[in-house]
Amino acid sequence: MKMSKLVVFTLSTLALTACQQGVNSQDKHTHWGYTGHEAPEHWASLSPKFALCGEGKNQTPINIVNTIDGKLPPLKLDYHPSDVEIVNNGHTIQVDFKHDHNTLQLNGQTYALKQFHFHVPSENLIRGKSFPMEAHFVHADKEGNLAVLGVLYTLSGENQRLAPIWQHLPQKAGEKYTLNTAFDPATLMPKKRDYYRFSGSLTTPPCSEGVSWLVLKHYDTMSQSQVEAFATLMKGHNNRPIQPINARVIVE
Ligand SMILES: [Zn+2]
Repeated sequence: MKMSKLVVFTLSTLALTACQQGVNSQDKHTHWGYTGHEAPEHWASLSPKFALCGEGKNQTPINIVNTIDGKLPPLKLDYHPSDVEIVNNGHTIQVDFKHDHNTLQLNGQTYALKQFHFHVPSENLIRGKSFPMEAHFVHADKEGNLAVLGVLYTLSGENQRLAPIWQHLPQKAGEKYTLNTAFDPATLMPKKRDYYRFSGSLTTPPCSEGVSWLVLKHYDTMSQSQVEAFATLMKGHNNRPIQPINARVIVE
């Protein structure tokens, strides 16, 4: 009697575990990308969890036009030299922060810089203009609300401030590299920090909405060869096309 109870218990535990693993691995293995049948126009049909990619009304990226003057306060960033890890996640190169000491203040809330990553060419457009590269600095507050700061790049000479990352770009998906010197994300912020603000989403599946978007009006620069080194890793490009603005306003 004891034995059979134990067997039943063990089997049901196993079944539950297997089921949970099944759900999790399903999540992990819903492949998506930027070309062919995994391209952005198909994201919503790849998994029910990606429905917002097709149905969402507040999606990013956008073409920034028809702004309203909202007298936005100066951007409050407090960034410091930090321990980072560079990750090739198969969709972008992402620089993860090990600590939460870099902050953005927005509407009285403190958001911690979690990671930044790159898109080639830019995802957001300004008055129809595309840029060779865009960086996204992803912040989260204590409740998990996201605020993303976009920095656009134009072409010029080599960007030495990006060099510590570009010298260690992990070549294959899943590869990581821990920088052995501190990296200061403040070095990647243009001196003038006027910005556009709008409500949007993640630009990758599951395209979750409720993300506060800030895009700097002033650009940084990088070289053609830096753009090409990144584009080669991304097999050409990793930008989602622009999405309808719908009822949103862009404030500047
Ligand atoms: Zn991004």
